Amino acid sequence: MNLIQCLINQNHETTAMKSAIIIGGGIAGCSSAYTLAQRGFAVTLLERQATLAAEASGNPLAVLYPRLTGQNTSLEQLNLHGYLHSLKLIESLGVKRCHYLACGVAQLLNNQKAQARLPALVSAYQNTALFKRMDAVQLSQLADLTLQHEAIYFPQAGGINLQALCHVLTTHANIQVLQHHTALRIERSQQWQVISANGMKHAADIIVIANANDATLLPQSQHIPLAAVRGQLSYLKATPESAHLKTIVCADGYITPAIDQVHYLGASFSQQDSDATLRTADHESNLQLLEDISPGLNQALQNKVISGRVAWRSQTPDYLPAAGQLLDAQALMTGKFYYNDDPAKLPWLTGLYVNIGHGSKGFLSAPLCAQVIADHAFDLPSPAPNTLLNALQPNRFILRKLGLKQLAQHLIP
Ligand SMILES: Cc1cc2nc3c(=O)[nH]c(=O)nc-3n(C[C@H](O)[C@H](O)[C@H](O)COP(=O)(O)OP(=O)(O)OC[C@H]3O[C@@H](n4cnc5c(N)ncnc54)[C@H](O)[C@@H]3O)c2cc1C
Repeated sequence: MNLIQCLINQNHETTAMKSAIIIGGGIAGCSSAYTLAQRGFAVTLLERQATLAAEASGNPLAVLYPRLTGQNTSLEQLNLHGYLHSLKLIESLGVKRCHYLACGVAQLLNNQKAQARLPALVSAYQNTALFKRMDAVQLSQLADLTLQHEAIYFPQAGGINLQALCHVLTTHANIQVLQHHTALRIERSQQWQVISANGMKHAADIIVIANANDATLLPQSQHIPLAAVRGQLSYLKATPESAHLKTIVCADGYITPAIDQVHYLGASFSQQDSDATLRTADHESNLQLLEDISPGLNQALQNKVISGRVAWRSQTPDYLPAAGQLLDAQALMTGKFYYNDDPAKLPWLTGLYVNIGHGSKGFLSAPLCAQVIADHAFDLPSPAPNTLLNALQPNRFILRKLGLKQLAQHLIP
């Protein structure tokens, strides 16, 4: 038995009866519920809709691959660690059980900008089996369709139906899912309490707020800046030619192999846009993304749009999620704090966490963030580097606003 296993077992003994409430049943909430349930917490998940993963996580095939640059940034660390973590999670749950489409992902090098990134990328990962560089001929053979650009190919990458994954995650015996439960308020008495719109009160030792953009409606997480970014997917009826496609191909957009004769093509981005209806103009802009991937495929699929889906991403200004324990923003704003304060002495809302702001890559980032939170709740060291943990800290925005940028960088010492 290794040291970590010993620590986990020890903690299981002392905290076997701990409880957690998760607000939100998308991929962030379901992976938080699962990770805490695995650690012995009794978990209650509150979801306002009739089913899990009914909002952003209702995407029929979410793509998992890391957008790497080879640069030493927090975003790169998130992409790398998140990707590997999600792959491990799927493997541990069972690839077949999760309906993971392990078809690989080809990231096309179809313009000068993408080509310019290549030397740094190759040099940073040269001794790894993360990806293979392929010329257009090799890629066309692999994809079983003529493609005109070279690519970076991630063999383990693929796509998943997040709704199916959310259901697998929440079948854990320690998780109770309560649908049609809208969390309205969070209060603190002896334990944390959530008051639902139906008047019910739920109490637990810890709470994870995982309700995406609606986290800004709760006073405790209101200080986290989130933008709702509308996205539209197009569903295309496969043709005999397009049905050959064997791998997911990405440039600025992405197209999936046909699943039950349907390709998924994504996706549009629009800010400050609350229109829930499917728009022809957005299908056209998605087809333009397909033109950049493959003019041949675009031509074959021109009149094949049969449907689509609209949802809203939840985006922070620095494109990193917000994951970790919250500070009391009111106390921060009214008290006196300095850049060199001891993080342990700050006004922590002990046991109140967020797992939000996953932007365009929730399948990659949410499970890792769930792990980061569970490790913190269990006083275990995180496998993610401290620079990444600090970059993900949900309090970074308010601390920066208060002129405490340096403190924000060292909250996790
Ligand atoms: C068009 C499009 C394409 C995308 N493609 C990909 C992709 O290929 N790969 C990828 O990784 N990501 C992709 N994403 C992003 C991905 O879908 C999101 O990052 C992810 O689903 C976010 O998960 P979440 O759990 O944070 O949010 P959500 O899935 O939105 O979950 C939040 C949940 O909280 C619930 N809720 C809200 N308020 C309350 C409340 N008060 N009480 C109770 N419940 C509440 C909601 O009903 C919802 O179920 C895409 C997004 C879009 C829009």
